[in-house]
Amino acid sequence: MRIASVEVSEITMTRREAFVSSRARVDERRILLVSIRDTDGYEGWGECSAPEEPRYCEEWTNASWEVMNTILVPSLLRKANLTAKDVREHFDAYRGNKMAKAAIEAACWDIEARRRNMPLWQFLGGTDDPVPCGVALGIMDSVDELIVRIEREIDSGYRRIKLKIKPGWDIRIVEAVRAKFARLDLMLDANGAYGIDDLDTLKALDKFELLMIEQPFAPDDLWAYQEARQQLSTPICLDETVVSVLSAKAALLFRLCEIINVKLGRVGGHAEARDIVKLCLDHGIPCWCGGQHEAGIGRAHSIALATLMRRDIPSELSASARYWTEDIIIPEINVDEQGYLHPPTGPGIGFEVNRRLIDAATKRRLVHR
Ligand code: MG
Repeated sequence: MRIASVEVSEITMTRREAFVSSRARVDERRILLVSIRDTDGYEGWGECSAPEEPRYCEEWTNASWEVMNTILVPSLLRKANLTAKDVREHFDAYRGNKMAKAAIEAACWDIEARRRNMPLWQFLGGTDDPVPCGVALGIMDSVDELIVRIEREIDSGYRRIKLKIKPGWDIRIVEAVRAKFARLDLMLDANGAYGIDDLDTLKALDKFELLMIEQPFAPDDLWAYQEARQQLSTPICLDETVVSVLSAKAALLFRLCEIINVKLGRVGGHAEARDIVKLCLDHGIPCWCGGQHEAGIGRAHSIALATLMRRDIPSELSASARYWTEDIIIPEINVDEQGYLHPPTGPGIGFEVNRRLIDAATKRRLVHR
């Protein structure tokens, strides 16, 4: 494909309700969108999952905006001809900034699938089996509020519930939830809020028969993972620690985790995410697709990623309406009453982009040719 133009836009969207983790509170999102046109008139879209502040990882909206507009997009436009598969290697010249890279790379995959008139999931090598979906619930003001929310999500069909935890909002909360929902598929995510000195607290969670605990320790506290894995019976899932195939490989070889959460933005795009999924499949390590408060374009790309995975663990892919009053894609994403999402059949990401809404929500835009 030959790229004719790249448009980078920043839009703002307000979540229907705020979401609180051990590290951040998310209500208004500043989202960067990338639209790439090739010389044959095909258009592909990508979405940058960088958060508003560098709390989840080093990346954040302003940094992604800068690196996209001053380095990544100009370097891509200097390539005369390329395929989506080449973009990862091309961006290897620059360290980090994986969410910015992923947004651009994903747009290239969308174009290339559209050029073939093929759904992106199929172009990537996925299957169209329905994808089981789960949801994450943030830290709330009270346990009662949390119980009400869990009931609502179960009624909507979601197949597993993830609770965000932090010191002080952990054992007591899980105990109350388990007392009410004895058989619920339940997991926890600490976003690195604990240290190895908290091992007794984490051990106390073993009795609740959790599916997994995600990222209990800091991303680079590898020793804590190795130590904890020998002492905890709850499976450990890595999120922030796994930023590449290489770090996934190290996590498996050093036995740091039992499960991996794969996110497109965190690992730099479809090519890298697909290799991580393949690594997991080859080693019999379960993986699932995580979410990052994405709007519809980002979520559509995540659906394509999830179709590459086994369907044994629900991915974090909920309906548009759980997040937004109106989403930036048409139709909006829906999950059926059994909590399954059906891969779209249209070309590329399989959804139309809601230009009217995007234009109305755009705060700044740069067009590169
Ligand atoms: Mg996580």
